Amino acid sequence: MLGRSNHKHAPAAVISSDQRYNSLTYYIWRQAKEFPNPVNHTELLHEADRCVKCGICLPHCPTYKLTLDEGDSPRGRISLIQALANGHLSDAETHYHLDRCLSCLACESACPSGVNYGYLIDGTRALGKPGWKKRLIHRFISVQPYRNSSRLLLKLYRFSGLRHLLRLFGGKQLRRLDDLLPRAAEIGLWRKQYLPATEPRGRVGLFTGCVGRISDRKGLDASIKVLNCLGYEVVVPLNQGCCGALQQHAGEPETAKRMTAINQTAFSSDGLDAILYIASGCGAQLVKQSFGIPVFEITQFLNQCHWPDEARLNALPQTVGLHTPCTLKHQLKLADEPKRLLSRIPEIDLISLDEIDCCGAAGSYLLEQPLMADNLRQKALDKILPHNNLAFLATSNSGCALHLASGMRKIAANVQTVHPIELVAMSLDGTA
Ligand code: SF4
Ligand code: SF4
Repeated sequence: MLGRSNHKHAPAAVISSDQRYNSLTYYIWRQAKEFPNPVNHTELLHEADRCVKCGICLPHCPTYKLTLDEGDSPRGRISLIQALANGHLSDAETHYHLDRCLSCLACESACPSGVNYGYLIDGTRALGKPGWKKRLIHRFISVQPYRNSSRLLLKLYRFSGLRHLLRLFGGKQLRRLDDLLPRAAEIGLWRKQYLPATEPRGRVGLFTGCVGRISDRKGLDASIKVLNCLGYEVVVPLNQGCCGALQQHAGEPETAKRMTAINQTAFSSDGLDAILYIASGCGAQLVKQSFGIPVFEITQFLNQCHWPDEARLNALPQTVGLHTPCTLKHQLKLADEPKRLLSRIPEIDLISLDEIDCCGAAGSYLLEQPLMADNLRQKALDKILPHNNLAFLATSNSGCALHLASGMRKIAANVQTVHPIELVAMSLDGTA
């Protein structure tokens, strides 16, 4: 009896990676077993009551700017959250406007009263569990990329005619998914260790991300190459998993915590000096967790490193539009880091696209709110396209890259969407 009880409450650390990812059913069953929902109505109301309804955040909110509806503003949403927590309105009456929130946190950056809007929106979403369909899609996105069967599935999709059939008969949603899939997406095998040519000066762990390990493989490979060139050994723990951001912002904080536990185990055993990530969406979730070692965004880390003489950057005479994802700007407060790093490249022509609001990617928002997401993307593209000499659009988040690239392909197919680190790798190679 005691044994069964102990097993049920075993910490995540004793569960093998095979067990973790072997069965989707197992994964869903385990969620919510160990982590009770941490949010309650009183705490939500306490935070919501700090909003003085001044409206200073309204001109900073991308959804309000799009619809001019008070319900789509931070102030309106906080009022809805208060009414919901007080029991004056039901979930069914509030979810329309709350679901349309991007969680971009532009409002939080603008708020003079320091209202923790991120806590409010995440907490409110956690009060009502998302439906099984949404949870299953999130589970598929965050688990499937780590399975070896993904390679086979992608090949089957591309070369068996399945893609053609789904585009013809699969409906709007599947066509939208196919539009998002990068044309050159690859699921190559990972090695656990990537050594520099000389004696390592340090050992860092690389967090791949779930979507990123497929869509941003070039950015991850470029990171390894640059780090090796600077003398760092790179470890890619094979038992790492998704950061859990998707679940955290969709009302499943307990599942997000389980995912954190998996990563805490994966990155704890190799004597690492630091953990590095390249997608700011993952980073914003990772930095909230305790790993016992520092967690850095890749360009932030490289800006702090000593660059040896042999790591010389060659001229890259290209015009680059630099997009800043909301997570880098409003959550991580690292908006200047990619700019600082890219500025080291001789002859690069950097155009800052800082003034662009949320592009509408926002985790799974681009799938769940297609109309809003496409309108927000169009507003972003309207600010990018006048720079008609662009060779590259650089952005530090996988979701933004997928969403913007899918829009760019239709109107400016000659502009390549890349992660900033890819430009650094090109410059080191002298290949541009
Ligand atoms: S969230 Fe902050 S800026 Fe917005 S209305 Fe409330 S107090 Fe004002
Ligand atoms: S998180 Fe973004 S979309 Fe949501 S209310 Fe704040 S500014 Fe508006």
